Amino acid sequence: MTDAYVRTIASMGTVVTIHVVGHGANRVDETGRKRGVDAALAWFDEVERSCSRFDPRSEVSQLSTRIGARVPVSDLLFEAVRFALAVAEESGGAFDPTVGLLLETRGFNREYRSGAVVRTALEPDDDATYRDVHLDADERTIMLARPLVLDLGAVAKGLAIDMAARELRGRSFADFAIDAGGDLYLAGRNADGKPWSVGVRHPRDHQTLFETLRVSNVAVCTSGDYERRTPGDDGGAEHHIMDPRTRVSASTAASVTVLASSAMVADALGTAAFVLGPERGLELLERDGVDGVIITPALERFATRGMRAEYLVEGRSSGFDS
Ligand code: ADP
Ligand code: MG
Repeated sequence: MTDAYVRTIASMGTVVTIHVVGHGANRVDETGRKRGVDAALAWFDEVERSCSRFDPRSEVSQLSTRIGARVPVSDLLFEAVRFALAVAEESGGAFDPTVGLLLETRGFNREYRSGAVVRTALEPDDDATYRDVHLDADERTIMLARPLVLDLGAVAKGLAIDMAARELRGRSFADFAIDAGGDLYLAGRNADGKPWSVGVRHPRDHQTLFETLRVSNVAVCTSGDYERRTPGDDGGAEHHIMDPRTRVSASTAASVTVLASSAMVADALGTAAFVLGPERGLELLERDGVDGVIITPALERFATRGMRAEYLVEGRSSGFDS
């Protein structure tokens, strides 16, 4: 017998839903299931408390008040920053977690719950890059060598999903879906006992799916230029993925969907590939051994070689070989 349990909260600027399926021997009793899902969901608030630049009390915001000092931080923040710096290095700076002030000055400055405007009391230093973030792995400290604000928007949600998935697996849940605003982790099987079905949105027509993937035990994260835009205007408005080299929104991709065993990896590499654009983005994904699909503003589809072999891809009949 199969049953399902679903819970939704608002966290990290989005809606987070966990859907647990119980199949036969994998069934967890009702109390255990509720506790497990609550504990998994708690990771989202926990990661947000460490990693949100929109909360002046968060650990990451505190770093910007102590430029030049070696500040001891939690393991969560340390690991998020360490991973972000690795992706920055690998992408040649196309991915750069020091875009916080740039985003803030472009209008990405409102805390999603309260609507409060964040204004960091720092003079922006246009020369600051990820190289100005110094980690000490033994002391677990972070030091910002120039005035800057770390933005972990491209890794934190993935990290929270990974922590939530680990929490559920540790409690013997085998079949579940974690959805944090379109960034997903799908474990085991769905209620029909089949691999989970995940739609890749058409980046220009939200009523339509571009294609559908059949997946199990994998994270699927999407970065799209339609997700968050500066308020007010439409044409010419900026979206939330910046090319740090030009200091304007990246424009050679419309959406990137990445599949990886870790959501943090899928999340960050998707953002990195988005900034790099289809050719170099695809190279990055293949070099890192993850699969993905990059859709350009002209709706061309670029996919890693493994996309076709490993996932039962339904959808557009053209372009599977690209
Ligand atoms: P979401 O899942 O929230 O749509 P994405 O995974 O697409 O987010 O990542 C976009 C977020 O990454 C932005 O909101 C911002 O926080 C951060 N970001 C924007 N540009 C860059 C960049 N060049 N390098 C690293 N992080 C970035
Ligand atoms: Mg991302």
